[in-house]
Amino acid sequence: MSRRLSGKVVIATHNAGKLKEMRELLAPHGVEAISAGELDLPEPDETGVTFAENAFIKAHAAAMKSGLPAFADDSGLCVEALGGDPGLYSARWAGPEKDFNAAMAKVEAGLQEKGAITPSQRRAWFISALSVVWPDEHEVAVEGRVDGVLIWPPRGKAGFGYDPMFLPDGFDRTFGEMTAEEKHGLPPHGLGLSHRARAFIALEKLCLKV
Ligand code: IMP
Repeated sequence: MSRRLSGKVVIATHNAGKLKEMRELLAPHGVEAISAGELDLPEPDETGVTFAENAFIKAHAAAMKSGLPAFADDSGLCVEALGGDPGLYSARWAGPEKDFNAAMAKVEAGLQEKGAITPSQRRAWFISALSVVWPDEHEVAVEGRVDGVLIWPPRGKAGFGYDPMFLPDGFDRTFGEMTAEEKHGLPPHGLGLSHRARAFIALEKLCLKV
């Protein structure tokens, strides 16, 4: 059974960019978002073996510590020819310097090693898992996915992470060449294209819309 989210919610992230994006998504629903960082909540170890488990671990820890419903996400890029890598380790492949040019080069090296040259050999997808956990441990979990092809060299300077090498199916521009509105915009004005937008649409249906 689903439950409506209202009032104050903790966003279980210490990442300012994610906090801003989630605040903007939740504000039209009358949900006031405070961050785990603002409440000085500790960051739990992400020991899950799936995106959904890691999202749950973060949301659960924040709900237990704050006594408020908590909202968390976990996301990454999965490459078919690399057996789903970098997957849960998408952020870690960029190293402590968060060098995503190096991370993209590592993905490309892996594809070259596998002889993955044609678009059908270079399939990949982004996943976003969202978890909302209430203080009584009730959970609502959703996942969004966007499929595409990895190109080389990367194109575009917009977005972040692996965006410049990801060409979503049905488009001729990479996520790195799209505006934030094109990538993340929600219907009715936007396309709901990105994995995060798709996960959020699923969440809206379950626990935000009246
Ligand atoms: P998280 O912060 O643990 O969810 O790690 C997500 C990582 O996955 C990011 O650091 C990026 O490397 C990658 N990632 C997730 N979503 C996107 C996206 O929309 N574009 C590009 N890279 C992404």
